[in-house]
Order: sequence, then C-alpha cells, then structure tokens
Amino acid sequence: SATVLAASLAACGSSEKTVDQQAAPGDNTGALIGVTMPTRSSERWISDGDNLQKQLEALGYKVDLQYAEDKIPTQTQQLDNQITKGAKLLIIASIDGTAITTQLENAKAANIPVIAYDRLIRESPNVDYYATFDNFKVGVQQATSLLTGLKVLKPDGSAGDAKGPFNIELFAGSPDDNNATFFFNGAMSVLKPKIDDGTLVVKSKQTDFKTVAILRWQAKRAQDRMEDLLTSTYRTGSKVDGVLSPYDGLSIGILSALKSNGYGTAAQPWPIVTGQDAEQASVKSILRGEQYSTIYKDTRELAKTTVAMADAVLKGQTPQTNNTTDYDNGKKVVPSMLLESVIVDKSNYKKELVDSGYYTESQLK
Ligand code: BGC
Repeated sequence: SATVLAASLAACGSSEKTVDQQAAPGDNTGALIGVTMPTRSSERWISDGDNLQKQLEALGYKVDLQYAEDKIPTQTQQLDNQITKGAKLLIIASIDGTAITTQLENAKAANIPVIAYDRLIRESPNVDYYATFDNFKVGVQQATSLLTGLKVLKPDGSAGDAKGPFNIELFAGSPDDNNATFFFNGAMSVLKPKIDDGTLVVKSKQTDFKTVAILRWQAKRAQDRMEDLLTSTYRTGSKVDGVLSPYDGLSIGILSALKSNGYGTAAQPWPIVTGQDAEQASVKSILRGEQYSTIYKDTRELAKTTVAMADAVLKGQTPQTNNTTDYDNGKKVVPSMLLESVIVDKSNYKKELVDSGYYTESQLK
C-alpha cells in the first residue's frame, strides 16, 4: 500500500519524498512502465510480454518491453536503461533472481516501485509485490499427473490399480530461479511417500535438487542428462516408466533422448513424461501420445493481475494480494498474488486450452 511503500521508503532513508507525492492519483497518467522478460526462446514469455504490453497500453501507459535471451548482463543493462529513461514502475521476470540487486537499489533511490513477475526476485529488500502462480501447487500437480499416468492414482485422485514398482527419474528447473525449488518441493511432497513405500524407484538414486536441476531450463542439458541416465542406469535392460519434468522445453529434450534410445514404439512405449506451460509444441506432442501432460498457466490472467497491481501502485492505492507468508526472498516477505494452474492432458485439453480461447484448434494440429 502507499503507506507501506512510504514507510519502507522512509526507512530506507534514500529520499525525503513519499510515494504519496511521487505517485499521487492522476500523476502517472501515460507513465512509462519497464517490462523485462527473460527470453524469447520459450513461447510463454512471448505471450507474457505481449499480454502485459497490450493491457498496459489499454490503460494509457507507455511500455518498454525487453527480452534478454537468458543473459544476465543483458537484463541488468535493460533495467539500467529503463531507469534512465524515466520508467515510473518496473515489472521484472528475472533470469537469476539474485543478480539485479544493484539495479533495484537504483530503482529504489529513484522511487520506482518494482513488481516481480512470475519469478521471485531474491536477496533484495527493493521488491514491492509479486504476481505469480501457486508454484508449490504446480509441483504437486506435476507429480499427481505422473502418478495418474502410471495409474497409481485414478483421475479422481483415489488409489488406482497399479502398484508398481515403477522406475522414474526426476528433473528440476534452473537453480537460480526461485520457482524451480518450489516446483520440486511441491512434486516431492507427493512423490516421496511413494518412493518410501516402494511404489516408485528412482533408479539412478539422483533425488537431490542440485543434482537434477537443469541450468537456465535448457532443453539440450535435459536431453544430455537423460541420455546419460539411459546409457548408465538403464544400460542393462531395465526401463524408465516415468519422468518428472518441470517444463515443456525440458520434456522435449527428454523425449528426444528417449526416442534415440528406442522408446516410443509398440515394444517399448513412451514413459509418462510431465511438463509445464502448455506450449504449443508440447500440447501437440500430448495429442500424438508422446508427452503425457503439462501444467497450464493462463498467462493472460497473470498479465491481468500484474497490470491491476501496477495500476493500483501508480495510483497510490493498495493492490490486491492473497499471500503474505510464503515468498520470503531472503530480505523480506514479498506480498504476493498467486493464481491457480490446471493439469492438462489429452482428456481435457479441448476444454482448458481451446474452449478458453488460449489456442485455436488449428494451432494444435
Ligand atoms: C516459470 C515456468 C517456466 C520456467 C521456464 C519458470 O520460472 O514459472 O512457467 O516453465 O520458468 O521458463
């Protein structure tokens, strides 16, 4: 809220001005807003950027939208530029959540509020709000869908007929992305009891986040790790039944490693492979029976929430949040707005993705 912001500005002591003076209602009409996204290499961030820009412009704001192609120095430079250009608010989806501390100090000194978009910005007190999905729950959904695919669970969540043991392997996202830990912890909250009771076997024994994490969410690194697992752990004929993959891009890499090792045939069917983001290529893969599921996060809704937050802040109002406990960034607990995600597989893609207007049927052909 304005009072909270004013209080924290006062506490920081960098300026006599309060946010009430800086961002009085009406003052920021047509203001410039800086939006920085991590990369164009994944569809979701393109949609996020487009949606934010469209919705902010509809409210009369000017937008500087930048992509950094996963390069940290590029992102820090983009933020420096936006501050220099006089942006009145920054919306940031960071690459490395700890690497933009200096930029945020400069933003604070210039009374520029900061909203962390999708990914929490870590180790800085200069983050005002956070808009995201319920990241722990995304992980829970990924693991639940892995168990449903293996028929350990029925689609309604009750116990299925299959008892295992099933061989699975685990993948996690980029260790510098705060979300990756949330996804993994959420997934393990569901999988760990099944590993402990012997239903699931992580044959490689690689269950530690650091060991299974894939830097910068790169498909190629996931493909290489899966290749390594197949040629070491599974060399002697045992089969992989399931793979926990936290992101569609990684799933594509994992599936291609599986394919070059003979999976995806009548004799050796695809294991259950999860994902996230409902990217077009992966939804098509699901429809072909390769990838099993994805987690759909409606980026239109995330943009809407964030734009409402930005607009409120710039008008000196208190934005709506629904979580003030879970997202401690190491320096403060950042007031957050968490949205809900949905498990999507062959059975419900039409309802969730097509009927909702996220994709047209022909985009998925
Ligand atoms: C996002 C995911 C995305 C991943 C890779 C995460 O921070 O929350 O939706 O799959 O980054 O881009």
